[in-house]
Amino acid sequence: MYELENVLRPYAWGSTTAIAGLLGRPASGGPEAELWIGAHPDSPSVALSQSGSAGAHAAVADHGGRRPLDTLIAEDPEHHLGRESVAEFGPRLPFLLKVLAADSPLSLQVHPTLDQARDGFAREEAAGVDRAAAERNYKDDHHKPEMILALTPFEALCGFRPAVEARAVFQLLAADFDLAGLELPPLVPLLLQDLAQPEEHTALRSAFERLINGGEDIADATSAIVAALVSGAPTAPYQAELSTVVTLNERYPGDPGVLISLLLNRISLAPGEAVYLPAGNVHAYLHGLGIEVMASSDNVLRGGLTPKFVDVPELLRTVSFDAVGVPMILPETTMLGQEVFRPPFREFQLQRVELEPGADPVPLAQEGPAVIIVVSGAVLLDSPKGELRLERGGSAFLPAAEAPVNAHAVSGATGTALAFAVTTALKG
Ligand SMILES: [Zn+2]
Repeated sequence: MYELENVLRPYAWGSTTAIAGLLGRPASGGPEAELWIGAHPDSPSVALSQSGSAGAHAAVADHGGRRPLDTLIAEDPEHHLGRESVAEFGPRLPFLLKVLAADSPLSLQVHPTLDQARDGFAREEAAGVDRAAAERNYKDDHHKPEMILALTPFEALCGFRPAVEARAVFQLLAADFDLAGLELPPLVPLLLQDLAQPEEHTALRSAFERLINGGEDIADATSAIVAALVSGAPTAPYQAELSTVVTLNERYPGDPGVLISLLLNRISLAPGEAVYLPAGNVHAYLHGLGIEVMASSDNVLRGGLTPKFVDVPELLRTVSFDAVGVPMILPETTMLGQEVFRPPFREFQLQRVELEPGADPVPLAQEGPAVIIVVSGAVLLDSPKGELRLERGGSAFLPAAEAPVNAHAVSGATGTALAFAVTTALKG
């Protein structure tokens, strides 16, 4: 088992206090958006020398006891990942765990399917598009399904709502303009027409396509709608949706994503609730602290709420226009007492490990490689190869060859320990 040092990504939307507060360490002073726990080549965690037995991997000491996790794994993929993981995902850690703290909205985005990612990556490589170029869509040939588990109330936009509901929101807006004697922007009746089409998929697609290219008409309609809302137009029963429109427009005035948000499910997760985001799901995290897990990839197609490049044709090929409801995931409790969130992806599952003082140890669900982070109290991990104690904020990589690992409450502890562990989901 290797204790990890992780990289903090200081994106501007990050909270300045939430991650430091959770992990019990001093804040950097700047935004702290994401803590990456994994082996993604852009920001791999650093594995510290193994405590206890040196084992077959004493070479770590040659690097001053520190080395990037991707390098460590590459030295002996079967030992670190297990044969099944290597066979399915290759000699790399297939998942990435993040602690994510959004103070302001992230861009509206969608992730490709595996086939789209492979095709898109091959196409852009063949065309010689620089991997760092602004117009580059596919940074690698992997898909990026993800999930988020709320640690605080967590606000997000997630997938298309039924067309009939989106239509009801725009109808309410139209009625408000009427009531206030204001001139209705011509965009609104057009959207109402789009959304009235009998086939839901077509209705949502037409409305999305009308908005996504942006331009003057969209920006004008957006500012007229925001002005009406700010001047006190009634917003019930769509209070959250419409105040989101106002907030988004403050940050990205006139951006197509502002009105697109009304086509999407506006969700508020309570702490402990989780959703997963399959390929094609249009989403944006708005506010809150959470544990995010994803397949290790960087493939994001942006769809608004961003000053960055939006490739509309490619986006339209990738977006799923089906209103399938909000994909919540409930934890399952296994026979061994493990509380596990298993979204329908093979790259990852997330285990929540809660240990009261003096509680029996909990075996970690481990189907290959695993990582763990402690967010409260302290946890003692034991494997057949040794022990590792992690304090609040501590994290570790657990090689496949060191399973099974048990998590123990630390003796003498007074508070409840809480940790989150991620492993692959290759069985069942
Ligand atoms: Zn995403």
